[in-house]
Amino acid sequence: MRAAVYARISRDAEGEGLGVQRQLDDCRALCERRQWQNVGEYIDNDISAYSGRLRPKYRQLLDDVRAGKVEVVVAWAPERLHRSPRELEDFIELIEATGLGVETVKAGVWDVSTSHGRLVARMLGAVSRSESERLGERVHRAHQQAKARGYWRGPIPFGMRASSQPGAPEPDPATAGVVELMFKRVVAGHSLCQIARDLNREGIRPRRGREWTHIGIRRLIYSPALAGLVEVDGELKAAVFEGVVDADEWRTALAALRRRPAGERRRPPETLTLLGNILECEEHRHKCFGTGAAHAATYQAALPGQCYVTITRAAADRIATDIVLERLRQPDAVDLLQINRDRTPIDNEISHLVRRREEIVELIADGLLTGAAARPQLDRIVQRLKVLEGARAGTGVQVDDLRDPAAAWEAWTVPQRRDLLRLLFDRITLRHVGSKNGPRADPTRVGFVWAAATNDGLIPNC
Ligand SMILES: [Zn+2]
Repeated sequence: MRAAVYARISRDAEGEGLGVQRQLDDCRALCERRQWQNVGEYIDNDISAYSGRLRPKYRQLLDDVRAGKVEVVVAWAPERLHRSPRELEDFIELIEATGLGVETVKAGVWDVSTSHGRLVARMLGAVSRSESERLGERVHRAHQQAKARGYWRGPIPFGMRASSQPGAPEPDPATAGVVELMFKRVVAGHSLCQIARDLNREGIRPRRGREWTHIGIRRLIYSPALAGLVEVDGELKAAVFEGVVDADEWRTALAALRRRPAGERRRPPETLTLLGNILECEEHRHKCFGTGAAHAATYQAALPGQCYVTITRAAADRIATDIVLERLRQPDAVDLLQINRDRTPIDNEISHLVRRREEIVELIADGLLTGAAARPQLDRIVQRLKVLEGARAGTGVQVDDLRDPAAAWEAWTVPQRRDLLRLLFDRITLRHVGSKNGPRADPTRVGFVWAAATNDGLIPNC
């Protein structure tokens, strides 16, 4: 009999630890015992029983069976051959059409010529599939429980290392400093590309991959483990271990990243102007960007045929700076920027909302509420949680900065100044002038729309 051996590498329940070599060895031994002639070995490599990837060798095998080159198929176990009931049915059809024999190391001869044999085959397939699903659920549940108790699950981020206690990594003395500096640079507005480039130049290697990229830096910054936090069901809670930076520092860096448009996160701060992409045409709402030579630098909404509104950059920067400094000199600036704010009310509201959400989820689980009916309320809770998380983040501006705002403003980087403008104003507008839109230095054309939300809506009303 001409026998073909089929083996599949996967990481499902059965595949873990069962190397392809072991599958092949057992199958070859089976062929020898039966005195079958091994006419070919077909090996597919897919990551999971659920991946929809094509199995080229499996297809080749079916073709060879149809062509009469193969009389019996040998595999290690039925679930090696088929990943879905659909595939199994097609295979049974092929067996009926060709009289193909099937034998597996684990389940023996596979007789699908009788209805009983077919039933057994179908049940074996169903069992192996549900086992694989259950394993996934068990692992997921175990991870959730560990995280709820404050333990870390998943790869340990750069800057930390495993400790003697599983799930409780600790700062790695060798790399924690690199991460601390990284956070300071992010808050100061250094671009993620710049940070990556510097690390690569210094020969510091990321945990995975050969080089740092802005995406890798961003991913690392977002890891809550670095702040001694774990995320459970989308909620951050204190972990049982210490991070590299404190939670407020981490939130401030994330808030800074979120406030800045994507292009700005990648651009070096020295190429940024104070008002570029912030200042907008009052009439057309087009954003203005810095243009022109150093001696005649302007902001311009360069939209050919529609809007050429433009202003001398120095004049616009001056008036924006003056108005911000004037605001920072007011006694309520500390509240305005949420410096030293008691965050207890925010934390209380966050935990109240989280509890509320858990109650709703329980009601759904008990069948007392439909998911569709709960959706609007859940969405509102999620939105509010986002606002609160943002309010908790702070600005990175220190109380000392407010003693001499002008000096602090000088010391801040351009991205930090831009962050402040975005916080203080909903819009900064530029009015067209006369018939000719040439560069003008008239600062009264610049309008400032204060952000109503700078304070309101962030502090809960309780
Ligand atoms: Zn315009």
